[in-house]
Amino acid sequence: MKYNTPDFNAILRSEADNFISKVYGMPKLPRQYAQDILRETQNFIQNDILANIKKCFESQVPTVDIDNVLKKFESPFSHVLSDYRLLKYFMEYKDYVSPISYEVGEIDVTVRTRSGPKLQIKKCYAQHVPLCRTLKQFRESPNALDDILSYMEYLKNNTDTVENFIQCERWSKQLEKFSENDIVILLVKYYDDFECNNALGSSCLKLGGVYVSIPCLPVECQSSLDYIFLALLFETRFRCFSDEKIFAPLIDELKFLEKECIFIDLPCGPQSVYFVSCLLLGDNLGVNFVGGFAEGFTANFYCRFCKTPKLIMDGQCVEDKSSLRTVESYNVDCAVNNVTETGVKFDSVLNSLPSFHIVNNYSVDIFHDLAEGTCHYVMLHVLRHCIPNYYTLDFIVSEAHSPEQGTRGGFGRVSVCEKKV
Ligand SMILES: [Zn+2]
Repeated sequence: MKYNTPDFNAILRSEADNFISKVYGMPKLPRQYAQDILRETQNFIQNDILANIKKCFESQVPTVDIDNVLKKFESPFSHVLSDYRLLKYFMEYKDYVSPISYEVGEIDVTVRTRSGPKLQIKKCYAQHVPLCRTLKQFRESPNALDDILSYMEYLKNNTDTVENFIQCERWSKQLEKFSENDIVILLVKYYDDFECNNALGSSCLKLGGVYVSIPCLPVECQSSLDYIFLALLFETRFRCFSDEKIFAPLIDELKFLEKECIFIDLPCGPQSVYFVSCLLLGDNLGVNFVGGFAEGFTANFYCRFCKTPKLIMDGQCVEDKSSLRTVESYNVDCAVNNVTETGVKFDSVLNSLPSFHIVNNYSVDIFHDLAEGTCHYVMLHVLRHCIPNYYTLDFIVSEAHSPEQGTRGGFGRVSVCEKKV
């Protein structure tokens, strides 16, 4: 069958519309990803399929066999057309880092049998993604190490503004263990629980995730999900077996990365790099959970930084240095083994890392402490003071709705109360 040009265009347009409607019709696919798929498909057709067909034609002129050439491009995805094939294919390449299951304990489960319900022992597993391999792959990607080193150099020379942990005194102390020529990079671990499936349904599952990131990446990459690496994934209820078992693979790797450098193949030759993990991030509950502190924030000593009783802390505006927790006091509190009196439940498993102790981990929960905490409380007082002394409520409302104000289009998505309360 021969197409004249207008017919061919119409058919192509109709087929493209068909394809687009199928992608957009996938009920579980968010629309922004549908656009990504269309864009990537277009790039694939243009840069890979058509460009290669063109090359084939050029190389086989004048004995060009159209059928033969087109056959080569008939099924570019045949080798990965099922999940099994896809994983098998990528596992053969060293670039793919597959998760590793490890046993964390056993639980009793009731199983229905013909002779009635029976109690059986079921092994419980968690998943671990090897960090050494992930980091090695990442570092070897073009310019990754150069970008990190140049950003670290910028931070080192910028003494006017403190914008990164590696500008702090604590990081300088960590570096004392290494020689001047060593490349030492900060790793940050992050822990939080989350619920998947329907949170109100019976199949709701609470999972704990530990992630690792590199805060010395250029600023524009630091919060990108592409550069936050999953290290552990487990069912939160399995922590009853002990944190030692759950966190064991991660701790072994973090110790290894700090003591034994990993060699990275770069165009200039193999380069040794150390990774030091001396900071744990998370929300207040997550960090208290891993740190062995009281998890209820109504407890008498719930603060992980100090041992000020709750009643005093509620009205405390100035830091009381004498009540700050220290490694020594933490160890004593662990030995006392009374969370009501000390706020400490157990010795954190992360304290076995050479450069980390939970008591020195002065990282705060930005979301709950600032965005939903002090910023909110302070802004109420600021607004009450300023309206109507400096500007009117109408002015604030009009500014909030103005698309030209602020870095994110004014207050944008913030809802504004337009009545005086
Ligand atoms: Zn405190």
